[in-house]
Amino acid sequence: MSCFFCKGELKEQTTNFMTELDNCFIIVKNVPSLVCAQCGEVSYTDEVAARLECIVKAARQAVSEVAIVNYSAA
Ligand SMILES: [Zn+2]
Repeated sequence: MSCFFCKGELKEQTTNFMTELDNCFIIVKNVPSLVCAQCGEVSYTDEVAARLECIVKAARQAVSEVAIVNYSAA
């Protein structure tokens, strides 16, 4: 598998995902990602992307300002 943007080599690596929803910051740590060795672009498999979406939704309902969730513990 190669990078969508530059065709560089993708390496499996855990990264932190951060998003902001209605003034609520949600950080998901240790997300299994594919990182381009050439341009640094981070991508996720469909499975990980779907799970991230669930984690973000659940966190948004549980907290009002900042949520820090560990991917592997969620
Ligand atoms: Zn790239």
